[in-house]
Amino acid sequence: MIYRACGRSGLKLPAISLGLWHNFGSVDSFETARAMILRAFDLGITHFDLANNYGPLPGSAEENFGKILKRDLENHRDELIISTKAGYRMWDGPYGDGGSRKYLVASLDQSLRRMGLEYVDIFYHHRPDTETPLEETMSALDHIARSGKALYIGISSYDADRTAQAASILRTLGTPCLIHQPKYNMFNRWIEPSLLSTLEKEGVGCIPFSPLAQGLLTDRYLHGIPDDSRAAKPHGWLKREEVSDEKLTKIRELTNVARKRGQSLAQMAVAWILRHKAVTSVLIGASRVQQIDDCVGALNKLEFTAEELKSIESVLQNAGQPS
Ligand code: NDP
Repeated sequence: MIYRACGRSGLKLPAISLGLWHNFGSVDSFETARAMILRAFDLGITHFDLANNYGPLPGSAEENFGKILKRDLENHRDELIISTKAGYRMWDGPYGDGGSRKYLVASLDQSLRRMGLEYVDIFYHHRPDTETPLEETMSALDHIARSGKALYIGISSYDADRTAQAASILRTLGTPCLIHQPKYNMFNRWIEPSLLSTLEKEGVGCIPFSPLAQGLLTDRYLHGIPDDSRAAKPHGWLKREEVSDEKLTKIRELTNVARKRGQSLAQMAVAWILRHKAVTSVLIGASRVQQIDDCVGALNKLEFTAEELKSIESVLQNAGQPS
């Protein structure tokens, strides 16, 4: 594993981190979830990313992760960076959603109970909330760090302007913003025009999520939609329509570029993100151990020739709808 400094902080994160959004809930196989976490840790993936609502059922990914921690990793707590988040709806009534101090503090307490932890390493505000003053959300994060329930704090999906404002408020409060978690992959490049440079300027790390466009940027859909794939699941996070002919043409062309580099498409998609020096870690998801092995194989070839980047760019310039 390669470890990279997270912004201008003393914390290093693995170049590849594992997220528990899908495939770790109460509807999924506990033994597969456990095997993935243990394999990831053996590969040097020291960072596991959760959120209050991951499941389904919401909260069950944290519960399962807590069980695995207790059973297998209890003596390794100091080797792990565990993150969780609050920001999307989690419980009924006005205090289970958004960015209020009331919601964030209560949600983190619930997350800690579910995971059986005294503290998380990183606590995020999961999404911007324009109904709550930014000062309130940031001071709640500062309070959480001072309470010792999180060592560092982060934000997710904030645009460049709001990120700069948040970073400035947090600096004044004395709790620097460690990290930003945006969506970023070859099919969705919204962070390129300004967020990446803002993060570099502010000294905030960057951990892009859905780097494989939820599985599109892999060999998963080359021969149809497998029954056990994300696009086949009823939750609708990756809709069948997104596996369009137009996308598949791009995916095949990108696969050819990857093969010439001696990589799978998933490996090239991960390496392509890590080429940005503002990026600390790439946050993958997985449904089986082999996918984690494959993604970590990306680290064997991170560099790109100008020619390869040009080939990728020319495929993407004709890309369809963002995913
Ligand atoms: P990815 O884009 O990496 O998609 C993961 C899916 O891609 C897997 O479930 C699997 O699909 C497929 N896959 C992964 N590796 C391979 C491989 N080597 N070969 C073939 N297929 C592969 O990421 P996610 O969308 O899962 O997001 C990753 C993490 O980011 C989440 O777990 C979460 O922690 C975080 N996140 C944060 C958000 C936020 O708002 N802050 C929002 C969304 C995610 P299949 O299941 O079909 O096998």
